[in-house]
Amino acid sequence: VAAVSAVDVWKVYGSGEAQVMALASITTRFEKGRFTAIMGPSGSGKSTLMHCLAGLDTVTRGMIHIGETPLTGMNDTQLTKLRRNQIGFVFQQFNLLPTLTAEENMLLPLSIAGRKVDPEWFETIVTTVGLKDRLGHRPTQLSGGQQQRVACARALLARPDVIFADEPTGNLDSRAGADVLSFLRNSVHEHGQTIIMVTHDPVAASYADHVIFLADGRMVDELSAPTAEGVL
Ligand code: ADP
Ligand code: ADP
Repeated sequence: VAAVSAVDVWKVYGSGEAQVMALASITTRFEKGRFTAIMGPSGSGKSTLMHCLAGLDTVTRGMIHIGETPLTGMNDTQLTKLRRNQIGFVFQQFNLLPTLTAEENMLLPLSIAGRKVDPEWFETIVTTVGLKDRLGHRPTQLSGGQQQRVACARALLARPDVIFADEPTGNLDSRAGADVLSFLRNSVHEHGQTIIMVTHDPVAASYADHVIFLADGRMVDELSAPTAEGVL
């Protein structure tokens, strides 16, 4: 079973003359333990696809599964529960709470879900993300790269089946971006996690195991073991 799969997914926004076909017949599988990048020009449907795969938006037609669970047909309560327990998010803007420390930010989703963190797992994540000596810092006391690593740690600590990352390096310089991407890739390969990342940056995509390309809402190509040159 794939971590996430889409079968003949269509997404149409609006109606009548204002209709926009954002996704057209997308069929693809995101395998467990794989780091996949979704690439394509602006307006090609990357965000829409990610939002539909993560249950943040509904599809017009087609089926999406997270593992064996069909997303289509779930009500809001079921979707919220699924997002809380099976899905993690990393955003371009980090989305950390400014009044909380790095550690409090990392643990927040778990405490909201009423779950306890496994101390060993906490240690593993905090060590690999290189934030052990920054746990008591607030976001404003951290660099952009450190803030994004806090956000990655927050997503990974809940041990979701899938992490969705939306332009995670969009606000970072290339060195900080490389740190975040190395960490995401290592965590996929060491812990069998699954990451689906939207990016328009070929260098970022080159860290992925697999890249799919969108154009005008359609999947037009895919590539395994990409290099930055191959992705361009
Ligand atoms: P990308 O992430 O690749 O830039 P998007 O998924 O944001 O692309 O957008 C795909 C298409 O859908 C674009 O034509 C965009 O204008 C349109 N679109 C996205 N969101 C909405 C919305 N909420 N309402 C109407 N059209 C939308
Ligand atoms: P780590 O801290 O995980 O050891 P590095 O940042 O040294 O990671 O890079 C890990 C791997 O990422 C290396 O094997 C290298 O091939 C690859 N890598 C590093 N920089 C880039 C880059 N700019 N583009 C693509 N791959 C890169």
